[in-house]
Amino acid sequence: MAKQDITTALPPTCKPIVPTPETKTQDVLSRWSDAHVSLPYAIVTPTSTEDIVSTIHFAQSHSLKIVPAAGANGSFIPITSRTIYLDMTSFNKVHLDASRGEVTIGGGATTGTVLQHLAERGWHTVLTNSNAVGVVGAFLGGMSGAVNGIKGFGIDHVTSVTMAIFDAGQAPDWRVLCGAGHGMGVVTSLTLRAWRVDELGLTDGKVWTRKLMFPARAVAEVAELYLALQPPARELTAVMVFLRAPPTAPVPDAPMILLSLSYFGSEGSARRMCVKTYEERYTRKAIMNVTALTKMEDLNAANEPLSARGGFKEYYGCFLEEVSMESIVKSFEEWQKFTAADLKDRGKSFVVIGSWSTDVLVKNEGALGYKTYFNARGRGTFVQATVWYDKWDAKEEADSFGSALVGYLRKEDRQAGRKDFCFANNMIAGHNIYEIYTEEQTRYETGKRYI
Ligand SMILES: Cc1cc2nc3c(=O)[nH]c(=O)nc-3n(C[C@H](O)[C@H](O)[C@H](O)COP(=O)(O)OP(=O)(O)OC[C@H]3O[C@@H](n4cnc5c(N)ncnc54)[C@H](O)[C@@H]3O)c2cc1C
Repeated sequence: MAKQDITTALPPTCKPIVPTPETKTQDVLSRWSDAHVSLPYAIVTPTSTEDIVSTIHFAQSHSLKIVPAAGANGSFIPITSRTIYLDMTSFNKVHLDASRGEVTIGGGATTGTVLQHLAERGWHTVLTNSNAVGVVGAFLGGMSGAVNGIKGFGIDHVTSVTMAIFDAGQAPDWRVLCGAGHGMGVVTSLTLRAWRVDELGLTDGKVWTRKLMFPARAVAEVAELYLALQPPARELTAVMVFLRAPPTAPVPDAPMILLSLSYFGSEGSARRMCVKTYEERYTRKAIMNVTALTKMEDLNAANEPLSARGGFKEYYGCFLEEVSMESIVKSFEEWQKFTAADLKDRGKSFVVIGSWSTDVLVKNEGALGYKTYFNARGRGTFVQATVWYDKWDAKEEADSFGSALVGYLRKEDRQAGRKDFCFANNMIAGHNIYEIYTEEQTRYETGKRYI
């Protein structure tokens, strides 16, 4: 069948777009990262399950791969001339069933849409920290969020998944969908448990947040302060970010460290838990010191710049059990060097080191009665170094910076003989899969190689 036939083979409601060799990739595809993205075979925007099934049949009979896309943040997914890019934006519905305490989320819905929908009704669920991220895309890799400490990951709270599967002879194993769910089919909807915000005991129904910004010379003190908050209380998420000042700042491009705290409890208990962050020896070094009560729907607003589309971006990350001040300071210095070498091209690269209580994550697995495909439940420190550059020829250096940085931060865990772990949602193309899954998990029940 000739390539153009997709336009007539699929129902007109799929609105297939077939690029020509002259089409510029960015004119038809807008993604968080341009890494590993080239012109697809076609872009299809289904409006019904029937449209999706027709597209799967077409792909199978033409030996094409389907890549469903919702938030377009998965930089680990190569898009090639053999890809049908399935734009799921028509599946962006959200429905809260308050009587059951469940929310049903369409396969194309983003975090921002769901967060807003629930917050308006006084509810919440486990969602990511970026409004732009697709909920289903994040769920398939585990779905970590601001309430990890009190609720665990998204995969711990799924009650049903509706999908059109790629391999009709092999329905996906439920446990596999929970953390290793990519590439098995197209999820049209996902139902998660949801909870009332007023059960959290928040002050004025808002989340206590505190942000302290420090200059580079205070890195050792920030690391000390961050480590003093470990292990965090269940209600607390503590995040350190290495980033450069924006062009509008008094000293554009200056290297800085942000300590960002959010507490899902009362203002009084938040202050008690974070009392150290009010000590004068730290606060006098801070160039910004802001404490606020933040509405649920605004929780991700400050992360908006990290969701900007375009440019080449990849994440290097890991989960840690232990991290030292020395490793944090070393990784900060290396990030500073990497970005300083070409500020214009890679100055936007940033590093996140965050932490949460692992008690509930560990307990959840026992309560589920089966093992999910997320193995780092006992690791409470999460690292994500995002390399971000505009010229593809910076990739080699970016790769070696990213791997080295993760290596510095893994020092304590490796010395203690602990296995390397990283997050499925932060994979890079060609990632060592055994850092995410066990050897056993890479095989399906039938013995067929699965991942
Ligand atoms: C700025 C930023 C912040 C992030 N924050 C978090 C966070 O707080 N917590 C967290 O867990 N992760 C986070 N991530 C990682 C994110 O969860 C993954 O990148 C995820 O894969 C993105 O899903 P998406 O729909 O946005 O991207 P897409 O590229 O559209 O999809 C990603 C993958 O999911 C598949 N997929 C998407 N929708 C469907 C569907 N309906 N059916 C079947 N497959 C589907 C795609 O085929 C692809 O394999 C973040 C990423 C970025 C860039």
